[in-house]
Amino acid sequence: MYTRRTLIGRGFSDVQIKRAVREGRLTPVRRGWYARDRADPDAVTAVRKGGALTCVSALDKHGLWVPPGKTRLHIRLSRHHGPARASCRGYGGPCPVDQAVDDIPHALLCAARCVPEDYWVAIADSVLRRRAVSVEELRGCMPCVPPAVERMLRKCDGRSQSGTESIARVRLRGEGFKVVVQPEVASFHGHADLRIGRLLVECDSFEFHAADRDAYRYDRYRDRKSLVGRWFTMRLTYDDVVYGWGEVLNDIREFTRADRHRLRGDRRPR
Ligand SMILES: [Zn+2]
Repeated sequence: MYTRRTLIGRGFSDVQIKRAVREGRLTPVRRGWYARDRADPDAVTAVRKGGALTCVSALDKHGLWVPPGKTRLHIRLSRHHGPARASCRGYGGPCPVDQAVDDIPHALLCAARCVPEDYWVAIADSVLRRRAVSVEELRGCMPCVPPAVERMLRKCDGRSQSGTESIARVRLRGEGFKVVVQPEVASFHGHADLRIGRLLVECDSFEFHAADRDAYRYDRYRDRKSLVGRWFTMRLTYDDVVYGWGEVLNDIREFTRADRHRLRGDRRPR
């Protein structure tokens, strides 16, 4: 998707733009906006409605983890198109719409008003992991950092390996559990996802296991070795975390209440 200003900036004249439209190489979407035939249909819809794709819809296009339920497009309308309440909006004053898809910092700011805290942290964790940036760098890219966003940024952790792990970590800490992230486990020479006392919590991301036989085998190896090392492993699926959290939390409470998770003297797990 291109604005007329972008095309002019790249050296095209109005005559050349008109010719490209006539020849079908560019399609006018709305005043001052053009699409090539490979343009993303969601981005075209956002521009046609007078805005930009933002929030979780934009974050999805950037290849980041996004929460379940992509039922509607999240669009940020420009000031001249429709009431602000009909659109996703970030913090701070209105921000001009000059790209069809918002960049990650703007999309995150919109998502901060649109998705629950645990999901937002999971998205931000995936930015840290997949873009190899620190929390400080991410904070520095944001046009503004209101207190609500600062609170969530402090809960982010780029070591998290999946959205489900991030959500479980935020929720368990919210319940008062002391959660260790990516603890080292000597008996399988690696790291588990999360640890509460001697309970290892392994969070499977759905996409990962559906396609990967080696990962499936490696997880069984870890379960076996962790048992030998006197750890307990609780393996959670994507559905457990996203749709069945109440039951998972009850099970973790039950386990920890039974005092079986404590690390004792010479019976310490390894
Ligand atoms: Zn939204």
